[in-house]
Amino acid sequence: MSAKKILIVEDEQPIREMIAFLLSRAGYETIEARDSREAREQIADNRPDLALVDWMLPDISGLELTRMLKRDEDYEDLAVIMLTARAEERDKVSGLDGGADDYITKPFSPRELVARIQAVLRRAGSSSDEVVTAGVLQLDTAGHRVLASGKEIRLGPTEYRLLQFLMTHPERVYSRTQLLDRVWGANVYVEERTVDVHIRRLRKALSDAGADDYIQTVRGAGYRFSVKDV
Ligand code: CA
Repeated sequence: MSAKKILIVEDEQPIREMIAFLLSRAGYETIEARDSREAREQIADNRPDLALVDWMLPDISGLELTRMLKRDEDYEDLAVIMLTARAEERDKVSGLDGGADDYITKPFSPRELVARIQAVLRRAGSSSDEVVTAGVLQLDTAGHRVLASGKEIRLGPTEYRLLQFLMTHPERVYSRTQLLDRVWGANVYVEERTVDVHIRRLRKALSDAGADDYIQTVRGAGYRFSVKDV
């Protein structure tokens, strides 16, 4: 349920499949892209936690792709690890300049690959194992549960993801469209009022704990998570 999702961006199919095999054996969910155009579609649609980006891609370079992703605030939670060939190692500094969280030189051992991914995901924080606290609420991302004043609250999977997004992005107003993109994934064709339905369910689940007013409606704009009074 809480398996981390990793996007593998590599044009060479045997390498891509080998990495996908290693990562799924290590317990990760994997998705694949052959070039940066596919990578951006996959990122928008499937919201991976981490992207492994090969330096040499057929359309634009992995470095350029990394720069684009790191400039986009929609993808602030996405960790990026660049893959470079030995000959390109002198470029590692510019790889990190481009905003990559780490880089791995090919060829690499399976153990090294998995260890580096674990380390980056741990550092990436917000969406990996941690406890987020706001007012009476505690969201335990490792245990995938929500406590209100220490008592567990049962939430459906969508309400959980919605609350996780809101609690990790407090004090900002998100429109229904932005919430659909960030929680459901772009290009998922659901109506905007679906957001209202799930917000209503979430508030209902939080109401016994008196935390329903943490989710505030901002008229004409969207929703905001805040523990302060309106
Ligand atoms: Ca390549």
